[in-house]
Formats: sequence, structure tokens, C-alpha cells
Amino acid sequence: MTYTYRCTHCGQIVEITCSISEKDQKEKEMTCPNCGSSDFRRIFNALIMSKREAGSIAPSGPS
Ligand SMILES: [Zn+2]
Repeated sequence: MTYTYRCTHCGQIVEITCSISEKDQKEKEMTCPNCGSSDFRRIFNALIMSKREAGSIAPSGPS
């Protein structure tokens, strides 16, 4: 499984790949490679994909 997190301080995206049983430990150990923070918010791949789609459509103004 690949889990995706976003640093709540700088917005850096960090992905970890591990089993479900390892996830909690990985979450405790992970630090942001950009700012060193250990505060992360879990984000889901589906959310990223939908964001990318929304970006490509470029919603500017009402349709
Ligand atoms: Zn960070």
C-alpha cells in the first residue's frame, strides 16, 4: 500500500509505501524532507486525481 500525506506546514507531499500493520509506525517516524515537520495530514489518491482533473479543466467563472 502507498499512503500519501501532505505536510501541514509547507504543503510538501510525502508518500510512504508499507503494509497496513507498519503504517502507524511509519506515520510516527516520518518527517517532512522540506521543513522537518512531523505534522502531516493524510490525503487520498482519489482526492489528488480529482484535483488534477479540476486543474486541467481550469474552472474560471461560471459555466
Ligand atoms: Zn514541510
